[in-house]
Amino acid sequence: MALPKRKHSKARTGKRKAQWKIALINYSLCSRCGHPRLPHTVCSNCGYYNNELVVSHLREEIRAKRKERKQKEMIEEMEKRIEEEEKKKKKE
Ligand SMILES: [Zn+2]
Repeated sequence: MALPKRKHSKARTGKRKAQWKIALINYSLCSRCGHPRLPHTVCSNCGYYNNELVVSHLREEIRAKRKERKQKEMIEEMEKRIEEEEKKKKKE
């Protein structure tokens, strides 16, 4: 087995260990409440991710918000369809 020929001095060990540094945490601010949070994670302050409530101590709240959003999307789609149909009728 290979063995070290000489003793590593304390200075040499210290020089190596001096290169160990703490890296700064890369955080961004929540777009909703401005609370600092890690990127690509749910905000720990308001529980929102990508402007959508994801985490809450109230399950009902999440469900209600989701339902609300879906209903909004449905209404928007219906309005688009109606507009398209009206355009077609005008052309005829
Ligand atoms: Zn937030």
